Amino acid sequence: MKLSRRELLTTGVVGGAAIVAGLASNPALAGVEDTGLIGVPKAKNKKAVLNVASQEGRIPGKDLPEKLAKMEKWGLSGIEIGGGGLEKRVPEIKSALANSKIKMSAICAGFEGALMSDDADVRKKCVDSMKVILEAAGEIGASGLIYVPAFNGQTKLDHIEGRKVLLDQLPELCEFAQKAGTLMLLEPLNRKETWYVRLVADAASICRDVNHPAACVMGDFYHMYIEETSDMGAFISGGDMLRHVHLASIKRNLPGQDERDFTNGFKGLKMLGYQGFCSFECGCVGDPEVEIPKSVKFLQAQWKKA
Ligand code: MG
Repeated sequence: MKLSRRELLTTGVVGGAAIVAGLASNPALAGVEDTGLIGVPKAKNKKAVLNVASQEGRIPGKDLPEKLAKMEKWGLSGIEIGGGGLEKRVPEIKSALANSKIKMSAICAGFEGALMSDDADVRKKCVDSMKVILEAAGEIGASGLIYVPAFNGQTKLDHIEGRKVLLDQLPELCEFAQKAGTLMLLEPLNRKETWYVRLVADAASICRDVNHPAACVMGDFYHMYIEETSDMGAFISGGDMLRHVHLASIKRNLPGQDERDFTNGFKGLKMLGYQGFCSFECGCVGDPEVEIPKSVKFLQAQWKKA
């Protein structure tokens, strides 16, 4: 059957309305409510929260307990840790977190090779090393493992071959992550770092095709400033797959250290009822002991304004 453009438009509208109506009546979706945007449910009665976190390396201090104590004092609520050698740090991290109000957020990379490499051995090395990190991530209660399929220069595959290779491997990795109690967090970067996944919507589209509850995405305000047309639109396109956010200014320093505005993106997070962490992945101009608490206050003001 061939439909005219007019018929397509009509059925499209009816189809959209049916999806919205389905959201309200589907018992499997009890606990979520319609945001007014097709396909973007949000947790019922869950008002979005600004949970500021930081990568471990950004915080000054001689060891993890000292860093966590400072973070608590400065109004942060989560820590992000690098994935390299994570399995050897499980007892240390668990005991430090047990004595702190700071919660574990995501694990940043740290695996070997590249998931989207054109070399099967390199892909295998990547999957194997990711599994070691995912096990450890689950043990310490991390929300997910942040990964980039391939940095520029790490693959000879094009868009079509690259996506195929990713879709061949991600279902197994997502299943592994879910069993370990964590998620796979696909991070889009700007074109200078990876040509392959640049928009939150690109990442969300890949995860939609993976179709696994552990296939999730994140957004990084630094890359988003370079690539996205709308921070709010980008986050909304991630929908309930959006589980982590990186924070940085235009020059990749602490938020508030240049003119980067976060209110448009924060509006998107509020629309989603976002419950995840927003984590510093950035440099710092000046003394971090002074600048980090200042940046937390700046973000809280931006959140209020959004
Ligand atoms: Mg990032």
